[in-house]
Parts: sequence; structure tokens; C-alpha cells
Amino acid sequence: MKVVKFGGSSVANAEQISKIINVVTADADRRIVVVSAPGKRTGADTKVTDLLIALADTVLENADCEAALLEVVARYAEIQKDLDLPEAVVETIEADLRGRIENRDSNDLQFMDTMKASGEDNNAKVIAEAFTKAGFPAVYVNPGDAGMLLSDEFGNAEVLPESFAKLAALKNYDKIIIFPGFFGSTKAGEVATFPRGGSDITGAILAAAVKADVYENFTDVDSVCAMDPRVIDNPPAIDCMTYREMRELAYAGFGVFHDEAIIPAVHAEIPICIKNTNNPAAPGTMVVPKREPEHGSVVGISSADGFCSIYIDKYMMNREVGFGRRLLQILEDEEISFEHTPSGIDNMSVILRSDQVEGKEESVLELIKTELEPDNISVEHGLSMVMVVGEGMHYTPGMAAKATGAFCEAGVNLEMINQGASEISMMFAVKDEDRVKAVQALGKAFFK
Ligand code: ASP
Repeated sequence: MKVVKFGGSSVANAEQISKIINVVTADADRRIVVVSAPGKRTGADTKVTDLLIALADTVLENADCEAALLEVVARYAEIQKDLDLPEAVVETIEADLRGRIENRDSNDLQFMDTMKASGEDNNAKVIAEAFTKAGFPAVYVNPGDAGMLLSDEFGNAEVLPESFAKLAALKNYDKIIIFPGFFGSTKAGEVATFPRGGSDITGAILAAAVKADVYENFTDVDSVCAMDPRVIDNPPAIDCMTYREMRELAYAGFGVFHDEAIIPAVHAEIPICIKNTNNPAAPGTMVVPKREPEHGSVVGISSADGFCSIYIDKYMMNREVGFGRRLLQILEDEEISFEHTPSGIDNMSVILRSDQVEGKEESVLELIKTELEPDNISVEHGLSMVMVVGEGMHYTPGMAAKATGAFCEAGVNLEMINQGASEISMMFAVKDEDRVKAVQALGKAFFK
């Protein structure tokens, strides 16, 4: 059995919905279909979820919401018309939206979630009708009814563990299931949504619950690229990578998934396949628990800016028991999460995401000065992290030499190297202005 998820661009209009009917029905194992709300039809378009947020905001401001409501309805009307579905489909959607607004809850966050969830909910109903009309009987399943129980953190909900056993019953349907992504129900029966992009989470939960053979995530690219195509022309495609490799790449801005989105599938060891709705014949990229990599091979190179480092030195630091703990305690007390702590004999740096220290930098430096009495302390802004990732790097001599050689040739100065903590990646800090050059140099070295 396969759980299949289609993102917003794959269900944005009738043409795309017709494609997904073909994709799903081409493989009898594709039994559970998770759908997003209609996404962008063109580059400049607005996602239905964003239209719904604007609509909910208008309602919350007690302003006239008619135009915003009709804009949402018009998106479904276009789909209904182009798919030649009965007009009643759109009337039901309009009535549903008006009902959600009339029964507005006193809790604004809860109301917002009810409105956001309608995007996937109504789209799933339309898509189920479209399948059935095309001769492939399909059934819409409501997440709350099926047992998708979520915490009551509206807009940022998490799945409750008891959901998995309940959702396992989805295996037993004989019709194709069309399941709206992005939301579920709290124990009290209120609608709650995952963070934005949360239909990926729904798909991963269902794949884990029914112990699917594979979780297919359909998007609009043939496969995941080994490097950012904005940084390098025609990067190679990744055929297969492990969860660990994906996580390491995602750390530095690799936009495959929101890496938390697939946690349920990772825990259940369900292989994930990223495929293209517009070119389903392309094999896509597999993300698997384990693989046998080619010795010395690299799977991908990623990079992200937005880091800074606090550098501290103090003569005889290495003999001062508790220095590191006290330094990190200061960060903890200020609710700052840190990334890395490279250290020397008498010095230590803490690398952080710049947004973590925004507005707190001066107070943190003051605390470090008074509590740890360093000889010197300085902050460096504008750092980027560059990651070289591959299970094949494990036990392979010369990988770091190859990377640093490439940097040397390209004239990139290294601010930090971190290798060892993870045996499948090397991490380099460079100045922001060297990031692109650094990635291009590594690309040349590892993917000739
Ligand atoms: N429609 C929601 C969003 O735009 C969820 C999703 O598409 O995954 O964030």
C-alpha cells in the first residue's frame, strides 16, 4: 500500500487535478491520497490558504468580508466548472465557509484554524467527486472522524500518539481515500492545524499509521537536486539518500521538506519518494532508512546564511572547571539556542543563528563579561554554513583535504571546520560574501 500526498501546486486547478487522477489510478497500490488546498496556479498567484487567512483576518477585524469570501469561492468555482462537476459542489463550499464564519469561536486562534483548514477540507471533497466522476469511486474521509487527534496548540498543533492506532483502520477501505492534509481535531472536537506546509505531516502520519510500503510525496520537480540550482547550473539529481543525509542537508537550508514534517515516517522507517505530478514517469528521489553508498561519495552540498559567532578567550581556560557549562548556562537563561561550540586551549566560540541573539546581544555579552571574566570577547556577524553530506564519506580518508583544497583554490577563507561529531558530514563556516563561491568550489571538487 502507498500513501500519496499532493502539494498545493498539484491540486491548484482542474488540469492538475486531472493529472493526479491519472497518477493515482495508474498504480493500484495508491490507496490513500492526501491533498493540500489549491496552491498557486502561476508564479504570481495566491494560495487558497493565504486567501483564507486574509478572509479570517477581515472577519476578526469585524470588517466587511464579502469580497474576501467570494474570492475563495471563485477558486473552487473555477475548478468545479473546468472539471464539469455539479454546481451544488460550489454552493456547498460557500455555505460551509459562511457557516464557519457565523459560528465563529470566541478564541481567535481557534477560529483562524477552522478557516485555514477549510482549504484542504473543501478541496478533498471536490477531488473525491472528481475521482468518482472519472469512474474511480473515491471517498472523502474527515480527519477528525478518522482519529487524527492533535494537541490544542492552534496553528502549531502536534499529533497525539493515540492517533496512529485509530488511523490504522484506513487500511481497510476498499475505495480510494481522499484525505485532507494540514489539520485534525483536538480531543474536545475543535479543528486544529499543523504549522504551514503541514499536509506533508499528515501524509507522514498516515504512512506510519497504515505501515505503508512507501510514502510518495508529489510536487513539481523531477527529483531533489544535490545542490541549489540558484547557486550552480544543472546540479546533479539525487536518486537516493538516507533520512540522516536529508536532515543534515536540511540543516543548512536544503528545501526538500520541512525536516520535522516527516518525523512520523522516519520513526516508522517508511521509505519516502519525492516525485513530480507533471512527470510521474521520472523515478524521483528516494529517502530511505539505510543505503549502501559508494565509498567516498557525497550526496549533496547545502548552504545557509544568517549565523554569527561569539568568540571568547581567557588565559588558562582549559583548567577552569565549569567554564563551558557556565557559558552555555548564560545562553540557556536567555533562552538562546546555540548551534556549535568549537574550542581551543584558551578559547571557545559559540556559533548561533543570528535571529536567536537579536535584541539580546548586548545583555548576553555583559553577562559573559561579568560572570566569566574573559580576556577578550568579540562577536562576528555575517557567517554562512556550508555542509558537505554523504554516508559514503564515513571512513574515507582525504575528504576534508579535497574540500579545503577546493576552498584554497577558490580563495575562500575558512572561519570554522566541524567534522567528527557527525561522521556523514563536514561543516564549514565562511563569510556570507564567500558562500556562493565556496559552494561552487565544492561542487566542482565533488561532482565533476
Ligand atoms: N495549505 C497549507 C499551506 O499552504 C498546508 C499545505 O499545503 O501543506 O501551508
